Amino acid sequence: RVNRGDFMKALEEVHPAFGVSEEELLQVVQNGIIHYDKIVDELLKSGQLFVEQVRTSTRTPLVSVLLHGPPGSGKTALAASIAQDSSYPFIKLISPDTMVGYSEAQKVAAITKVFMDSYKSPLSVVVVDNIERLIDWTPMGARFSNSVLQTLLVLFSRRPPKGRRLLIIATSSLRPILTDLGFAETFDSELRVPPISSLRAVEHVLQSVELFPSDQHTRQAVRMLEEAGFSSRDEFSTKLQIGIKKLLSIVEMARQEPEMVAERLTRSLPKPKGILKNSPQT
Ligand code: ATP
Ligand code: MG
Repeated sequence: RVNRGDFMKALEEVHPAFGVSEEELLQVVQNGIIHYDKIVDELLKSGQLFVEQVRTSTRTPLVSVLLHGPPGSGKTALAASIAQDSSYPFIKLISPDTMVGYSEAQKVAAITKVFMDSYKSPLSVVVVDNIERLIDWTPMGARFSNSVLQTLLVLFSRRPPKGRRLLIIATSSLRPILTDLGFAETFDSELRVPPISSLRAVEHVLQSVELFPSDQHTRQAVRMLEEAGFSSRDEFSTKLQIGIKKLLSIVEMARQEPEMVAERLTRSLPKPKGILKNSPQT
């Protein structure tokens, strides 16, 4: 199992030639990648295959992949991790977080610049994080920035100049609206990033972040969750659904009160009944 220290060390060892905003990427994968379920490895493996495809195939100079899944399921971290592991000479993250306060025109310019820069490198990977926030999607009245949307649509399907290859990894928590917005045929591949839905995975996470002093304590806490009504077996009954991001933030809060960690965890997880009611699903 990988802890934060190992992860930071691994990232430090990668120093691609130019264009890489290492800090940006480090920030979004700051908790590292925990291999809590086989799906995590499958997603990373699929990402690697796209990286290899773009690197080696002369017939596919442009490949685009969409990672979609409910909020907090780990899309940004996985996208950044795949990008980072590519060790391509140009790796860049386009994120709404770095464009706070930008006008539409400034956003269009910033996004366009990243793609133009990528065309100068023989091999590039661009992560386009959180499409719906980039275009300022507002469910109320279904409003959004049309100029940013058009920019993305054009750049997502423009072939890079001769001899240049580009992998685009986009993320979204709102897969259903993307079709209406015109992204229906845009992506070569779509991968769903599911929330954590088994107690085994929760146990794995708790162990890797060393919330409890021993694995025995961890198992005790998981048993408490089971008693509280969370099921990991029956695929069709109400069961645990929680994004890794939320789980990790609960863990950090629980650390503040070490003596009642298990209880706190049980209390703060979404209740077994009606868990999905308020969270948008993709
Ligand atoms: P949002 O819907 O808010 O954009 P997200 O789906 O992009 O959320 P992230 O921001 O990637 O989720 O948050 C996932 C967090 O969990 C990160 O801090 C990441 O380091 C950590 N993490 C640990 N293990 C994993 C994993 N297997 N996959 C993804 N993220 C992981
Ligand atoms: Mg995200």
